[in-house]
Amino acid sequence: MKNAVSIKLIQCGKTFANGAQALQPIELEIHPGETVVLLGPSGCGKTTTLRLIAGLEFPDAGGQVLFGDEDVTALPIEKRGVGMVFQNYALFPNMTVGENIAYGLKIRKMPAAQRLEKIEALLEMVHMQGFSQRRIDQLSGGQKQRVALARALAVEPKVLLLDEPLTALDAKLRETLRADLNQLLRKLGITAIYVTHDQSEAMALGDRVVVMERGKIAQIGSPQDIYYRPANHFVADFIGTMNRITGTACDGLLHFAGGQLPCDTASVGKRTTLMFRPEDVEVVAGEMDDANMQGDILSTFFLGDRTRLLIDVGTEQAVVVETGRRASWQIGERISLRVPEHALLHFHDEAPA
Ligand code: ATP
Repeated sequence: MKNAVSIKLIQCGKTFANGAQALQPIELEIHPGETVVLLGPSGCGKTTTLRLIAGLEFPDAGGQVLFGDEDVTALPIEKRGVGMVFQNYALFPNMTVGENIAYGLKIRKMPAAQRLEKIEALLEMVHMQGFSQRRIDQLSGGQKQRVALARALAVEPKVLLLDEPLTALDAKLRETLRADLNQLLRKLGITAIYVTHDQSEAMALGDRVVVMERGKIAQIGSPQDIYYRPANHFVADFIGTMNRITGTACDGLLHFAGGQLPCDTASVGKRTTLMFRPEDVEVVAGEMDDANMQGDILSTFFLGDRTRLLIDVGTEQAVVVETGRRASWQIGERISLRVPEHALLHFHDEAPA
């Protein structure tokens, strides 16, 4: 989009009237045309951050919100040029689809003929051609959300804000809409901020993902960054499944009951946590030359395209691995595991969460 705008939050904190500090002062820069996903557990401050950008909340003293070079900190939502999509659709139930979409255009006094043309173009964009005359209560949840999206885009906002828009939909529909939304956001090139607590949604949609924890930003990065290079224990645990083995390293190895893993030189003599992803582990039944560890299968989960195994290797937490090669693992079976060195993440001197 030619006019895509950047967004900057400078020292934006939020304390509510009851004294609750929902957000500690954060710094966040969103590039023009980028889709940024705010991800984190319930109560971490995602929605508050989105509402500060929208102009539905205002930051504590000292905080600033910029759209491009414009300081919008004190502007209310209707003066910011933002479009919003909510989890609960927030459509006008007594109006048709077309009337809902045209609502903002009517307020802006767009002539009727032009409005009709625009409604048709927007309905086509969200794959809802021919639905203009339908009543809102005659739509499915997914269709309602498509209409809500069309309505938000109708006024050609500078910024599109989406607050858990797919959360109320069932899994299959969520996946379809996620794919459509992904294509649409890329095609439009609009600056978009998307709130979710669903990490796979965040990975699928975000150019960058902001992981939040208790009113703070834990990490900002591409989906690959936060998956493969989590900045701390919290991010590592929150994104996907991560194995962790903690101990004190000596001789370049971290020893535990079921085996050992190689450590970097910075780990020597230090309490070290090694982390690795289930899909990075090589799994062999019985004995394996140069295995890193051996253990017994505690449980098996057949997932169709792969099987997930929980393995007791004598550490506090069982190790999770994934394998696609065989679906008939037996509980109690002895198994060998190898973890390539490049798949190991080292964390030093951080108390396990
Ligand atoms: P969820 O996924 O559950 O919506 P969230 O990450 O979006 O969570 P926020 O809604 O931003 O979290 O809330 C952050 C914190 O601020 C929470 O502890 C919440 O209870 C508190 N909070 C939010 N809005 C208000 C308010 N209007 N008054 C007081 N406290 C609030």
